[in-house]
Amino acid sequence: MNHPTTAQELDALLALQQIDIQIHTIHDSNKKLPKEIFTIQQSIATIKKNIQNFKENIQKIKSDQEKTKKEIEETEKIISRYKEQRKAINNEKELTAIEEEINYQKIEKQLLEKKAQTYVSDLKEENEKMKKEIEDLQLQESNIEKRDNHLKKLLESNEKNIKSLQKERKNIVQTIDSLLYSLYEKKNYLEKNQQAVATMVKKACSACYYLIPSQKIIQIMRKEMLVFCENCTSIVVHTDEADDAYDI
Ligand SMILES: [Zn+2]
Repeated sequence: MNHPTTAQELDALLALQQIDIQIHTIHDSNKKLPKEIFTIQQSIATIKKNIQNFKENIQKIKSDQEKTKKEIEETEKIISRYKEQRKAINNEKELTAIEEEINYQKIEKQLLEKKAQTYVSDLKEENEKMKKEIEDLQLQESNIEKRDNHLKKLLESNEKNIKSLQKERKNIVQTIDSLLYSLYEKKNYLEKNQQAVATMVKKACSACYYLIPSQKIIQIMRKEMLVFCENCTSIVVHTDEADDAYDI
């Protein structure tokens, strides 16, 4: 195999970077979906906690309701006991006293009955709220199932794509001089948005938009040597697509 020319190596570097950007983008998208699923899982946990709270509230209201029911029964018993006693009384003063007692117990009973009514409406309200939470839970659970299936499919197809990109990458790397390749590796920090290779667009470096001096433009167009951007240190490569077609 003939040793590739500098121009060929520069083109190879650019192609390599395009592949690396694609691989990087796929890795990035792989990270996003699990995060989304994690958010749904958290919201499911919150809903479950809410449902548990509603259950406890309902239980508490029911037990209060039961207690009030017994209190009402107790008042009724007292009232009928007083009524029984009243029959045996002849004395006016005692009669007035027992009437007062009966009236007092009747008011007590009315208050308890009012309380019992609020428990009924409270229960209805809590049950409705819980029903809504349960519906929300079902929705979220079906949602997470769908997203989960989608994620699995996506990860599978991404893995396939990465494999084929890596194969392509390997072929390209073989055509690049090892020193140049390690220079590329050192400069290529896609995580930090740093690119090893830039193109020339409107006399500027595509990575940092720094205007390239005329002398360097000529060198870049000739593609006989490595030319670095003075500002961001990217290797600047001339391509036919990048519109650096103008008269020098
Ligand atoms: Zn630059």
